[in-house]
Amino acid sequence: MEDFFSKQEVDKNHDFFNNDSMESELLKERLFELYLLYLLSKKLNISVQLDDFFDKSMDFLKNSLKIEDFCLMLRDDDTGELKMWQADHANSEILQDVSFKLGEGISGLVAQTGEPILVQDVNKDPRFLHYKGKRTDIGSFISLPLRLNDVAIIGVLNIHKKETNTIQKNDVTLFMAVANNIALALERMKAYETLMNQSIHDDLTSLYTKNYFIKTCHREYSRAKRYGEKFAILMLDIDHFKKFNDTYGHPHGDEGLKSVAATLQENIRLGDIAARYGGEEFIVLLPNTDKEGATVVAEKIRNGIEEKELSISEGIGTRVTITAGVACYPEDGTKLKDIIATADRFLYLGKNLGRNRVVNKAE
Ligand code: GH3
Ligand code: MG
Ligand code: MG
Repeated sequence: MEDFFSKQEVDKNHDFFNNDSMESELLKERLFELYLLYLLSKKLNISVQLDDFFDKSMDFLKNSLKIEDFCLMLRDDDTGELKMWQADHANSEILQDVSFKLGEGISGLVAQTGEPILVQDVNKDPRFLHYKGKRTDIGSFISLPLRLNDVAIIGVLNIHKKETNTIQKNDVTLFMAVANNIALALERMKAYETLMNQSIHDDLTSLYTKNYFIKTCHREYSRAKRYGEKFAILMLDIDHFKKFNDTYGHPHGDEGLKSVAATLQENIRLGDIAARYGGEEFIVLLPNTDKEGATVVAEKIRNGIEEKELSISEGIGTRVTITAGVACYPEDGTKLKDIIATADRFLYLGKNLGRNRVVNKAE
């Protein structure tokens, strides 16, 4: 892909904009600024991951605007405080825990008022807090609001210079446009992340989706194969669930599904992955777990579901049970699809044996 931000590319175009046939110096500079903005929005449009986004913004600030020292602070959704999100590499560790309340310091004021503040000599402005004493090497400073539409301020972009009186008043308009672009791109990315998050979770139960599960399983399978490790798959299905629906109605059926999913989640560990595999069928991946361990987990889940009362109406409760099949890599097969098929086969064996049980071998 073409690298819009390569130093050569920007310098080449800077020469073009400085062509003698262009009359006004000011116009030339503004045109070049517009060109840089075009690059930024083009670059940010194609960046979707937050970390990637930061790298691209950093490239732009460094190579195109020659700004080496800067940071982005974002407002916390809950407290409204400004928290350090990212800083240039040299300062990211020093600044990582700095936060400002709304109205506190210059950044806090900018987040509160939505107006940029330019300080040509920070030592003469008592509002500047030197990032709570962590940065004493800044001479001049500009803090710009990251503004969405005209109302919401989601954070600030701060640009620092070692020397005093180095930021031109003219630059403020350009920097504001850069900040606006960053704000828009950030918001787009947040929306994208929310969407991604929704697409990997099942709406009703909040467990992972089958698609996500299969992808994760492939990763785990490759890892286990390479390092000679084990993993287990549990396949679970609610017993006589059609009858449950017929007896209590579909909405209570949905509540039952949610409750089963919650009990399932409560009985597995953090690294385990539980998904809704089909209507009332669930699947769990247990990394680094052998058959004995996985059977204990399946039994805990089965027992937890059997013991939980589902409320139907005032004073009326019922229960559901599940049947589970347990299969492991590598003892039940060398391919992922064989392990899943074996877990499924054991599950149906359990159904034939009378349901409400865990089956881990063919007998
Ligand atoms: P078995 O013990 O053999 O598993 O019997 P079963 O009735 O559970 O099995 P079957 O696969 O025949 O029926 C599954 C039923 O699960 C059919 C459907 O009514 C119900 N079901 C599937 N998805 C949903 C859902 O999202 N909500 C509700 N309420 N019911 C569902
Ligand atoms: Mg069933
Ligand atoms: Mg079923």
